[in-house]
Amino acid sequence: MTKETGWNLENSYASLPDKFYSTINPNPVEGPKLVQLNESLAKSLGLNVEALKDEEALQVFAGNKVPEGGSSLAQAYAGHQFGNFTMLGDGRALMVGEQITPNGERFDIQLKGSGRTPYSRGGDGRAALGPMLREYIISEAMHGLGIPTTRSLAVVTTGEPVIREMNLPGAIMTRVASSHLRVGTFEFARQWGSVDELQALADYAIERHYPEVKDDENKYLSFYKEVIKRQASLIAKWQLAGFIHGVMNTDNMTISGETIDYGPCAFMDTYDPATVFSSIDVQGRYAYGNQPSIGGWNLARFAETLLPLFHDDQEKAVELAQEAISEYGERFNSHWLVGMRIKLGLFHEEKEDEAIIKELLHLMKEHSADYTNTFRALTLDKKEDNKLFRSPEFAEWHAKWEERRSRQTESKESSNEFMRNSNPAVIPRNHRVEEALEAAVQNGDFSVMEKLLDALSNPHAYSPEQEEYCKLPPESEGSYKTYCGT
Ligand code: AMP
Ligand code: MG
Ligand code: MG
Repeated sequence: MTKETGWNLENSYASLPDKFYSTINPNPVEGPKLVQLNESLAKSLGLNVEALKDEEALQVFAGNKVPEGGSSLAQAYAGHQFGNFTMLGDGRALMVGEQITPNGERFDIQLKGSGRTPYSRGGDGRAALGPMLREYIISEAMHGLGIPTTRSLAVVTTGEPVIREMNLPGAIMTRVASSHLRVGTFEFARQWGSVDELQALADYAIERHYPEVKDDENKYLSFYKEVIKRQASLIAKWQLAGFIHGVMNTDNMTISGETIDYGPCAFMDTYDPATVFSSIDVQGRYAYGNQPSIGGWNLARFAETLLPLFHDDQEKAVELAQEAISEYGERFNSHWLVGMRIKLGLFHEEKEDEAIIKELLHLMKEHSADYTNTFRALTLDKKEDNKLFRSPEFAEWHAKWEERRSRQTESKESSNEFMRNSNPAVIPRNHRVEEALEAAVQNGDFSVMEKLLDALSNPHAYSPEQEEYCKLPPESEGSYKTYCGT
């Protein structure tokens, strides 16, 4: 008996004007093999887990066959990469359809590493196994932390090598996103499309992500303001978790407010706003501390694309855009401040909270303290054996904080619980991610990754089994580097 896979696909993106995509057939691969399947995600999409392990599904994940009801296309987009405008597009990815879930939600199903497309500039259109598994791990970690993100449904190896500095095993990841609309999609429309085409794209994005603004007087301005809100909230979550995206180019910023494109991203260990992991970010443009302002910069590029829709009078349109973007900083700050207060177990707002928070961060930086473990120690009321916890300035800060907490009507227990639910015990530390990837890629042993994924699925558990994931990397690994585009 054949099992129903549960694909329930639509292709609404293809109703946009032709220039937004190229219809292309997948490039088949020789010997695909399923190496990772996200069973809980599959279920939430309405897919049958057992059927996804069949040959038929494997052919879909490998890009050898378009799933029933789907149709394959590569999306066009542009973007500012490290500040420079350029034409882009899915150079190694393929949309195969939009899954409508049992709840009626719509998710893009995209294959990443599926071969060359009309938008491939250089490059082979393929991906290596290590980076695809890395995206799988980090995006699942983000999901576990409650941070909006694209997710990974499956990874298959292709049976073919990809040629980098050395031959690496090739792989294709199936990515699930609430959409792949990017700031860069709008930049593409503005640069190479008519105003009608731009409007079609905006209407599509509104329908898909912000239907609540449809009847607003100036719905395009409302749409813009809603994207600002979601990005301010998203980037605040990144900052609070110590997540560094690594390539916040405008083509990697979604309209939905999900984190997308896990290339050289990583979580910060030692707290330092200047932290950069990406090997190509030599200027530190996308350093941890710069992410909020880069978010604003990207949103300003987004506004520029929408000006013709804001008002017939372009001077007036610029005014409206400026007024809207001026709220971004305040929104980000307020999300960040609320989040930091929770991280410190503070239920209500007091004027000096910001000073208490900033003083802690300052001390963490001065004493090279680990970001995640410092908040974890505070949550557990535990004294770490390190420079920060031994310093008299920190003892002073700690007394001030405890005094502040004792002034709340809520009990210390509920404050601790508040903190536990907000401060993760487990993050995907770079050395643990590398260890999991090495076992999988070198030895075909996926058990290390499975165990890590399990810990990351409930980062606030504070269970004894999680202890081992809280350990810091050996000193010598201080200058961890990440790479993109592999
Ligand atoms: P990213 O830095 O991952 O956002 O990618 C930027 C652009 O480069 C996108 O248009 C990708 O599709 C394209 N690209 C990245 N890697 C490859 C590859 N191996 N082959 C072809 N295009 C690629
Ligand atoms: Mg990208
Ligand atoms: Mg990428």
